Amino acid sequence: YKPLSEVDPEVKNIIDKEVWRQYTGLELIASENLTSQATMEANGSIMTNKYSEGLPGARYYGGNEYVDELENLCRKRALEAFHLDSAKWGVNVQPYSGSTANFAALTALIQPQDRLMGLGLPDGGHLTHGYYTAKKKITASAIYFQSLPYAIDASSHLIDYAGLAKQARIYKPRLIICGASAYPRDWDYKELRKTADEHGAFLMADIAHTSGLVAAQELNDPFEYCDVVTTTTHKTLRGPRAGLIFFRKDLEHAKDLEKRVNEAVFPSTQGGPHNNTIAGIATALKQACSPTWKAYAKQVITNAQTLAAELVANGYKLQTNGTDNHLVLWDLRPAGVTGSKVEKICDLVHITINKNAVSGDTSAQVPGGIRLGTSALTSRNMKEEDHKVVAGFLHRAVQLALVLQKEAGSKLLKDFVRVATEGQTEGAKGVIALRK
Ligand code: PLP
Repeated sequence: YKPLSEVDPEVKNIIDKEVWRQYTGLELIASENLTSQATMEANGSIMTNKYSEGLPGARYYGGNEYVDELENLCRKRALEAFHLDSAKWGVNVQPYSGSTANFAALTALIQPQDRLMGLGLPDGGHLTHGYYTAKKKITASAIYFQSLPYAIDASSHLIDYAGLAKQARIYKPRLIICGASAYPRDWDYKELRKTADEHGAFLMADIAHTSGLVAAQELNDPFEYCDVVTTTTHKTLRGPRAGLIFFRKDLEHAKDLEKRVNEAVFPSTQGGPHNNTIAGIATALKQACSPTWKAYAKQVITNAQTLAAELVANGYKLQTNGTDNHLVLWDLRPAGVTGSKVEKICDLVHITINKNAVSGDTSAQVPGGIRLGTSALTSRNMKEEDHKVVAGFLHRAVQLALVLQKEAGSKLLKDFVRVATEGQTEGAKGVIALRK
């Protein structure tokens, strides 16, 4: 055994700088979280060495007795975390990420060139839900399937369920996908089920963003109405980077769904599972099954609502005026500054956020909004009072962006960028020195 610092000091130094960035900054990216040391230990384990194509008990390689034990444990915990009856639901824990989980789910549910409907990307949907532009079919979900996006209502910014039902009567989709990457409100799965049933369509929920809150039963339950539920494991669920696919085992019209999903993951779209990641998922799911998880999820939502209320109190506009979940969608257009500018300023002062399109935006490159999320700060045990302080920092960042915007190209702007950048470089050097 030789430590990384000896074998590869270059990589070790980069990791150390990232440790410093994560420890000293405020992480407000809605799709991120800070996974536990235990999960990282499992994720960084010797399980990475093993090939295990297939499923527990039916592998294409020898030596999988412990990998089988691990994957079975992970599957059991996944069902337990989401309060599912194993007679009705099964789960595949092998997807490498949320995107591959979604593509495998589509492969299992529908045929090439079948029609699907997902929330449009500019309205908060995800790329993998059939996104394309007038110029190009951007994602595999639009290349291999026909896709028609549904939308949010132009004034309330809530999902336009009536509009979706109307479009579906013309389009007759084989699959409706719900779930989003930038939608601060809960979903009406019952209403979506009605629309899906009108056309004999499958209903799939991608709860990548909210799965930790769904597991805590703090949001509506998609499992009550959907046929398939996919999720990433690294957002509110606070695990390593990966995906899960839950499928109904008792559907009259799709009795073979279990086989279809499992085969769609391997061999249709993936090779050998990443067993180290499955170990990390299992550990994260143990935490999500623990009695303290509900308190965490509740706090994530309370913190997001506190952040939202503080921003509104400072005169800002939020899409849907607030939030039901971990996410706040901040419309900066009335403040007179773009999301990209505020993202840049925040980066320089160690607040990590991302620019995001808000309803009516015409540019994805320079959008008018910011997406904020509270999962990571809540994992650092930050509460309401802390989020009020964070809202104050964000307010100051916007004010600074407005001043610097006026001074574009000036010495003031250059000095600010130089001082902030030097601060970061010095900080990173400090951590490396400390380690030595
Ligand atoms: N689905 C949704 C709703 C997401 O927000 C994301 C990522 O942000 C994904 C899927 C894709 O996950 P991954 O980046 O793990 O492929």
